Amino acid sequence: MGTHSRPLIGRKKTGKNAHPTRHCMTDELSQIDVKWLRRFRAALRRWHARGGRDLPWRNCRDPYMVWISEVMLQQTTVAAVKPYFERFLNRFPNVAALSAADEADVLRLWEGLGYYSRARNLRKAAQVIVANGGEFPQSIESLLQLPGIGRYTAGAILSFAFDRPAPIVEANTLRLYCRLLGFRDDPRSTAGQRLLWSFAEKLVPAKSPGEFNQAMMDLGATICTPTEPHCDECPVVSSCLAFAAQAQAEIPAPKPRPEITETREAYVAVESSGRYLIYRRPEGQRWAGMWDFPRFELPLASEQQFLERRIAADFGPRVTITERLTQLKHSVTRFRITLDCWLAESNGDDGLTTPHPTAWVVPSEFARYPFSTTGRQFAETLLRELREPNLFRAVGQNT
Ligand code: SF4
Repeated sequence: MGTHSRPLIGRKKTGKNAHPTRHCMTDELSQIDVKWLRRFRAALRRWHARGGRDLPWRNCRDPYMVWISEVMLQQTTVAAVKPYFERFLNRFPNVAALSAADEADVLRLWEGLGYYSRARNLRKAAQVIVANGGEFPQSIESLLQLPGIGRYTAGAILSFAFDRPAPIVEANTLRLYCRLLGFRDDPRSTAGQRLLWSFAEKLVPAKSPGEFNQAMMDLGATICTPTEPHCDECPVVSSCLAFAAQAQAEIPAPKPRPEITETREAYVAVESSGRYLIYRRPEGQRWAGMWDFPRFELPLASEQQFLERRIAADFGPRVTITERLTQLKHSVTRFRITLDCWLAESNGDDGLTTPHPTAWVVPSEFARYPFSTTGRQFAETLLRELREPNLFRAVGQNT
């Protein structure tokens, strides 16, 4: 394999159904040779020396900072993460501080980033590390034992912080590897994952593996972009099978789109003597651990009576729904949710029957609690309504 100057992986078969990507690519991976690797890595390093991204967590050898940044970056953009990262590090500067934190404080700083189990797992993992002496684990096996740490995060910590030659596959490198290999099948399938991780293992060098992995991620993020990749600026274009086949737009295979389900739900701000009823969402529900206003899926008819019954059955107080404050629209996975936000007054019996942690709080205390994104929107709408009555009431009645 080492004597080729054109794409070396997945060479063209002959015959009617021949395609450079459809034969056994694992066999082809075994043929990648030292010369090819040396050329590929050198081209990438030269490019990265000129064009790497400048990120707050870049060139950092602190495993704690690498860990926090990588977990935050899952499912999120760099721009969204930057302010969260700085706030989080200011408040919890090390593993010991995070392990001693209240879960609600951690979630409050995570509020808006979504996928809140990530924040809860960070705190749980910090507690495990502290219980084991406080030293950050330095082996793939011990990192994978920690709550919330998968193969990618472990590889990032090992290579970025400890300069160990650990492979990585995340969104940017997944796309880049698929294109380099000309891999047209589903990269998220078991066979696809096996192939991509094997490729990543072959690519990562023993010397400066962290820098190499960061260069691959930067190349994926800035040059090998999801749409219209900048192949004319790509340092590894001569090793790219997707480019050779002019198939960049078809690779990687898109994720199958989930069927969207429309649902209607409702919030109720239950008021009693100037305080509002909120509760901590239990394990197993969306946004577990976050606080929220009573929220229900709606039947098709008699919304107000239904909500009055559910408040009494699920929380205890007897209430009268008074009016709709506003309506929010948002999506969770395949659900597109229309969320009516109601006001209700307690009828005098405020006894709580719910098994979940619950509180009656004055609006000025909303800021102390971690809310789901829509919970925060509702809380802020309520605060504005209390400051400027009727402003939002009109909006709510018209939607
Ligand atoms: S040549 Fe184009 S498609 Fe191939 S790796 Fe480079 S940017 Fe991506």
